[in-house]
Amino acid sequence: MSAVAEVLTTVARNHDPRCSELPTCPVCADSMVAAEASAYVSDHMISYLWTCDTCGYGFVTKHSVKRFTCN
Ligand SMILES: [Zn+2]
Repeated sequence: MSAVAEVLTTVARNHDPRCSELPTCPVCADSMVAAEASAYVSDHMISYLWTCDTCGYGFVTKHSVKRFTCN
C-alpha cells in the first residue's frame, strides 16, 4: 500500500499565532500531531512525511525553510 500523495503548501491558510503549520489529513480531516520523518529536498525547502493515526493515510508536505523563523 503506497497511499502517499504530495502536497505543496504554498500559502498558510490559517495563520496560527503559535507558528505551527500542522496539516490535516486530506482523507478524514484529522489533525496531524507530529511528522513521521523530515528531509531537506533543497537548501531552502524541507519536506515532512505525515501518517494519519486515524485512517493511516500518508502524505508529504514541503515547507520553505525561510519561513521557519516565523516572525
Ligand atoms: Zn486520516
